[in-house]
Amino acid sequence: MNVADSQRLSSALENLGYEPSPRAEEADVVVLNTCVVRQSAEDKAYGRLSSLKPFKTQYPERVIALMGCLVGVKENPKLRDRFPYVDVFAPPSDPDPLIRYLLERDGKSLSESDTDSRNSILDESRIFPPSQVGKTVSANVPIVLGCSHACTYCVIPYRRGREVSRSPEEILADASQLARNGVREITLLGQIVDRYGKDNPDYPALSGLLRRLHTIDGLERIRFLTSHPTWMTDELLRTAAELPKVMPHIEVPVQAGDDEVLLRMRRGYSAGEFRDLIGRIRRIIPGVSIGTDIIVGFPGETDSQFQNTLDLLSELRMDVVHLARYSPRPDTWAARNFPDDVPEAEKWRRFRLLEDLQEVIATEIHAQLMGQTVKVLFEELHKNRWKGRSETNKLVFTESNEDLRGEIRPVRIERAGAWSLSGSLGDTV
Ligand code: SAM
Repeated sequence: MNVADSQRLSSALENLGYEPSPRAEEADVVVLNTCVVRQSAEDKAYGRLSSLKPFKTQYPERVIALMGCLVGVKENPKLRDRFPYVDVFAPPSDPDPLIRYLLERDGKSLSESDTDSRNSILDESRIFPPSQVGKTVSANVPIVLGCSHACTYCVIPYRRGREVSRSPEEILADASQLARNGVREITLLGQIVDRYGKDNPDYPALSGLLRRLHTIDGLERIRFLTSHPTWMTDELLRTAAELPKVMPHIEVPVQAGDDEVLLRMRRGYSAGEFRDLIGRIRRIIPGVSIGTDIIVGFPGETDSQFQNTLDLLSELRMDVVHLARYSPRPDTWAARNFPDDVPEAEKWRRFRLLEDLQEVIATEIHAQLMGQTVKVLFEELHKNRWKGRSETNKLVFTESNEDLRGEIRPVRIERAGAWSLSGSLGDTV
């Protein structure tokens, strides 16, 4: 979501005549777009912000803007007091405070209609930075902003505000504009992307939106993330299976494999229900790959509760697992009501156990691809090798002197590791 927000901000700045700068210290305007989902992300933002203080002292005319979840959707006077050298504070997905500041400084003004929406960063005219035309193969399109679910550990509803689906017309306009600019793959984004349209009776469900996006010429691949288990209907899965442009990869966080922990996280499903869902996904979308998220060391998580998570992961054998150590976030139910009582060393131990298990599982899953041919959409050259993604979202490398950017080509897999695959390039798909 932050990558998508940054891209739209770049676009707005480029439309004002700014150009990307390779180093923050050489720029006239520096924007830190921040994530606070975990304490480590927040600490990183504070560290970078502090490192910019001497820069601002030396060049007071240069502009520093802080954007994103560190600022949040509500006024935060403490942040202004702590960082008086920051010129502009902008909430997530909203470039207007910065754009207005720059225009006012230069004696221009922004029309009222441009400034009255917190989501105006999503205006079609602002979606794609001119400097990226022809370079970006895969782009993110936010379709659900904010979140209203309130998992007890999660700060996002407090910082990104309540759930709001964007209109299908806006989304289609964005996707068409991206396709016209050479983008071949879009990823539809939402904290709970499968709830798309549930907040507005006039909007289609995600399955209906996928059908409409499917008709856009030039767009070859469509992905969506992140899904919540409760909202993954068979209709959505069948639509994903039926539409050739919708890729067979589903991201569906489990967070824990123990029912009591899931209850205290307020996730809204049991481990058994999640197991059934994975069965349904695999039945309806043959050859699908599945990713999940897990938090270790949630308050009160005992050894045996953690063991249930470990057991569920070894049973379900996911393709990808995004692991996090629990960190208490301000304002959340868990931070206010549950002591953070799993010691840091124990969180790390659980994290490494899951990481090691997943490394074995991913290596085994990938070994089965040896000798097979997969279709890869190539994105860029990376250390003299072309890098792309298979339909199931596997990272694939190949060597070639051709310009493969934006091409979908077959690759015969000859090497398979836990985190990526490589092989030789075929001619046509
Ligand atoms: N909305 C999605 C969901 O259903 O959970 C995921 C979005 S969240 C930005 C990405 C991941 O960050 C979550 O899946 C969770 O694993 C992790 N996360 C969120 N809050 C956390 C916390 N307080 N401590 C550690 N990890 C956290």
